[in-house]
Amino acid sequence: CGIFGIVGVSDAANFVALGLHALQHRGQEAGGIVVHHPEHGFNSARRFGYVRDNFTSQSVMETLPGPIAIGHVRYSTAGSKGSTAIRDVQPFFGELSMGGVALAHNGNITNANALRRELIERGSIFQSSSDSECIIHLMARSMGRSIPDRMEEALRKVEGAFSVVAMTRTKLIGVRDPLGVRPLVLGKLGDGWALASETCALDIIGAEFEREIAPGEMVVISEKEGVASHFPFRPQKPRFCIFEHVYFSRPDSIIGGRSVYETRRQIGVELAREAPVEADLVCPVPDSGTPAAIGFAHESGIPYGMGIVRNQYVGRTFIEPTEQIRNMGVRLKLNVNRALIKGKRVILVDDSVVRGTTSRKIKEMILDAGAAEVHFRIASPPTAWPCFYGVDTPQREKLLAATMSEDEMREHLGVDSLKFISLNGLYRAAGEASGRNDAHPQYCDACFSGEYPVRPADMIDQGFQM
Ligand code: 5GP
Ligand code: SF4
Ligand code: MG
Repeated sequence: CGIFGIVGVSDAANFVALGLHALQHRGQEAGGIVVHHPEHGFNSARRFGYVRDNFTSQSVMETLPGPIAIGHVRYSTAGSKGSTAIRDVQPFFGELSMGGVALAHNGNITNANALRRELIERGSIFQSSSDSECIIHLMARSMGRSIPDRMEEALRKVEGAFSVVAMTRTKLIGVRDPLGVRPLVLGKLGDGWALASETCALDIIGAEFEREIAPGEMVVISEKEGVASHFPFRPQKPRFCIFEHVYFSRPDSIIGGRSVYETRRQIGVELAREAPVEADLVCPVPDSGTPAAIGFAHESGIPYGMGIVRNQYVGRTFIEPTEQIRNMGVRLKLNVNRALIKGKRVILVDDSVVRGTTSRKIKEMILDAGAAEVHFRIASPPTAWPCFYGVDTPQREKLLAATMSEDEMREHLGVDSLKFISLNGLYRAAGEASGRNDAHPQYCDACFSGEYPVRPADMIDQGFQM
């Protein structure tokens, strides 16, 4: 998901709409905005579909006045897939004794089922099926004297990955979980302040990047008092999601002081060193494979070309909820550039192989177009484990790498060769010169390593075996 918040500007909702538009790659199912205005109070709009279709018309934006606003773009993760109702669309809102609070969450709470059960037993009435709603109910039950105090207390009971942007009538609040699994950045715009999942959302509104919110940090921001920071959780070694670098974030964002594009390009360089192959052409699977393909071509000296062309009017395939649509999706979105491919030995570079649907279809299309050989180079290690921290991977059984060896996968995909970047190569590309520290990994890489930095309690209750 993508989250954004802003305080201290007039017509805050317009800025949120722009910010969410820049974060649309993080979730395309639905979006929502909540605002507060001193006279008109809290108002909200929550809709299915793209930001550009829902939050650009005057008739909608007129209903969202005020100098403070937050928003969310939704991407449903395990559990709630395919069944999103409008009541699951964030931000969530709650009326507490000291005033209203709205909240938008990116990540996944790994003990949400347990919390929900307990809260319902004690009288909470849930409005949605979302894990994020627990936070509001925990806040309602807290004895804290201020909304930030209550949020702090609530979040101490929550396990898993959370970046949160919340607002009261006058304050914007941002929090990252102690491991800092999901991103959150702070920007400055005139007298106002913005919080966003990624820096690309600051760029679009012309805000200055101030800094990242640190893992375990909570900031409370008001127009008058500026930014107050504290650290409510027991400190831990950060474990940022390495897959944000590989796929999830936008290449023009800066994470941990590092360009996402540069990391992806460097993954391609590492791949070309680890798994060279003789060929005539390096082609990205657009758009997610593009920077790595550029790096691969550069390092190998093999020409780079657009052997696959993407229709710009279709969203990310993976985010389509059902398998049938996903199957179609590849053809709706990608087509082969026959004139370039014919007779060539082609290296295809993609970011990841999950179910293998994309790679299989693309291989067929490339061979149909007359390619002499097809070699896959993948910019991440085999995805052998599901993510429980906010990225939508299917159950373990559906992951190709969970049931097959690399050689079996090559055979299944029907390609001449298939190579994945090593975990160490990926860490080097992400700026860790000596690779992965196996005793204390610098990132979360559970979907590749199976080492889960937070015990996925709900999933273990449901029989998941680590
Ligand atoms: P597959 O077709 O193998 O199931 O999925 C791999 C493709 O899905 C890749 O091209 C990748 O760009 C795309 N993708 C989109 N969203 C995600 C995601 O959340 N996780 C992963 N691993 N791949 C994703
Ligand atoms: Fe990111 Fe993978 Fe960890 Fe999920 S399991 S947070 S996708 S690195
Ligand atoms: Mg892709």
